Amino acid sequence: MLKEFINGLKDIIYPKVCISCKISLKNIASMDEIICNECWNKIQRNLPPFCYKCGRHLDAVMETICNNCLKNTLYFDRAFSPCVYEGIIKELIHEFKYKNKDYLGYTLSKLMIEFIKNYNLPMNDIDLIIPIPLHKTRLREREFNQAKILGFWIAKEFNKTMSEQILLRNRYTKTQTELEYQKRNLNVKDSFLVRQKDIIKNKNLLLVDDVLTTGATTSWAAYALKNSGANMIFVLTLAS
Ligand SMILES: [Zn+2]
Ligand SMILES: [Zn+2]
Repeated sequence: MLKEFINGLKDIIYPKVCISCKISLKNIASMDEIICNECWNKIQRNLPPFCYKCGRHLDAVMETICNNCLKNTLYFDRAFSPCVYEGIIKELIHEFKYKNKDYLGYTLSKLMIEFIKNYNLPMNDIDLIIPIPLHKTRLREREFNQAKILGFWIAKEFNKTMSEQILLRNRYTKTQTELEYQKRNLNVKDSFLVRQKDIIKNKNLLLVDDVLTTGATTSWAAYALKNSGANMIFVLTLAS
């Protein structure tokens, strides 16, 4: 309550500025009075051709899958990301995730929604949206699950149901950035728990998260869900 009050005061004392370049947004076009249009347009969009697995841009048109995906087993069917994880979007995700700026979720979700529409992702085939969960200890540190906020706005836009009761994190794992790839992979294996299995039986799911790096987290989440009877698993993250 007090925190909300103080945040409210800040808005009055400090006029709104672009979250990235800090230019005053008073007389310029912006996205939701959060980021100026110039910075918004500078966010590096992920462009086709996309890897058939992780969804990253492929350099060679003849290829269908990238080298990383050839090497590593990923248990989801396909992943997609509207942005390349660098520059402005990286800063924005950091602000969203670690600086308690939950309101950024609404604006950031627009990148995902735009991508779904531009590339005609098969939303009609999706039965349920599931955000990648945080362990409850981590949730207490951060106060909110950023994946849930993104999932909420996507579900709202496409008239889908989102459930955070099905996939749970049963183990507290170290922050991914602290670990190298091999360790990351082992770190998240078996860290997911699936409840209400009857709901996802033979269903196509869309997993939502903020970033896809090695894909280990979403892959093990997909593994747990498939083992519990889910059919196709798609992944949508803001950036990869
Ligand atoms: Zn700006
Ligand atoms: Zn790939």
